[in-house]
Amino acid sequence: MTATDTGSAIDLSINKDRLSRAQAELARQGVDYLLVGISSDLFYLFGYEGHASERLTMLVLPRSGAAAVVVPKLESPLLRSREALAGLLVWEETEAPTALVACHIGDAVGKTIAVNDHLYSSFLLKLQDAIPGASWISANDTLKPLRMIKDAREVELLLEAGRRTDVAWEEFIASPLSGLTETQAMERLVALTRAQGLDIGFGICASGPNAASPHHHSGDRVIKHGDSVVFDWGGTLEGYTSDVTRTVHVGEPDEEFRRVYATVLAANQAALDAVKPGVACQEVDRAARTLISDAGYGNAFLHRLGHGLGLDVHEEPYLVEGNTMPLAAGMVFSDEPGIYLAGRLGVRIEDAVVCTETGGMRLNEATRELVVVG
Ligand code: ZN
Ligand code: ZN
Ligand code: ZN
Repeated sequence: MTATDTGSAIDLSINKDRLSRAQAELARQGVDYLLVGISSDLFYLFGYEGHASERLTMLVLPRSGAAAVVVPKLESPLLRSREALAGLLVWEETEAPTALVACHIGDAVGKTIAVNDHLYSSFLLKLQDAIPGASWISANDTLKPLRMIKDAREVELLLEAGRRTDVAWEEFIASPLSGLTETQAMERLVALTRAQGLDIGFGICASGPNAASPHHHSGDRVIKHGDSVVFDWGGTLEGYTSDVTRTVHVGEPDEEFRRVYATVLAANQAALDAVKPGVACQEVDRAARTLISDAGYGNAFLHRLGHGLGLDVHEEPYLVEGNTMPLAAGMVFSDEPGIYLAGRLGVRIEDAVVCTETGGMRLNEATRELVVVG
């Protein structure tokens, strides 16, 4: 994600804009400071991926005025190109970075400090000691409205990641699977996805009875005739990830498998049809769940319908019963109903969907018709 950082002219305007929108949220919510550790939140706001370690790197964003980034000296060269976004608070190996933050913030009695979810507790506990008298809150309310609504560039990257994932899939299903282990099959799909210029985020191959376990860890089971095989994988483009699941059948499936497959496919479509700005997240889950329950498989749909998608594979909004948050244009999330029959088979069909002003639009279009492979 930061490969271009060594180039001379990098465009900081996106991050400048995001930082000032974060400050507007801080003002709106009466929060004085936002602290963001190494995470997708930091990449989103500041354009720096870094790597999480025992050394503190953290963005300190005041409600107004200049941002600062605390960074260990040995990693400070990586941030020189971004100094127009934030002053660098560089710390030496023998210094306590939390003391540097305390000094930078000054008297914090009565102030409110929002902390992002992925700042290690080892840092937070020390910061709370070093900065007495402040109230500490989660930064979720500050960051959620920003992260959740994708701008045109973000949607474009997600769409392109989806398109390339589609190409990899169409190539993948042209070859037989029978005789490969789950791990070998996944490696083949990963190689085809990488060949499309995507970095690999994650991958699950679950075959036969394993397909009934939604988050199965691919292993040595040999795929054979009569199996249903679930592939759930994603590739990233400039940090933005695709997330697709397709289920194939090895050899001609029986009536029951066809019925289960048709039900999941109809549920995937029903959920897509329910997407519209203003509709509660739980309503989209219900659209799929009602259909699956009516077909007699209600207990076999083991998980929520979907999750938000962007820099993280799982982020807000979550499409789950109990979430009354209304959808808004620009939200991107998965639509992934499934039916899992323990010990026998599983079917899941997952697409990424963007909510537009007029309804849901899929970001990947790899065939959803039942694929029978050798
Ligand atoms: Zn999952
Ligand atoms: Zn997935
Ligand atoms: Zn997913």
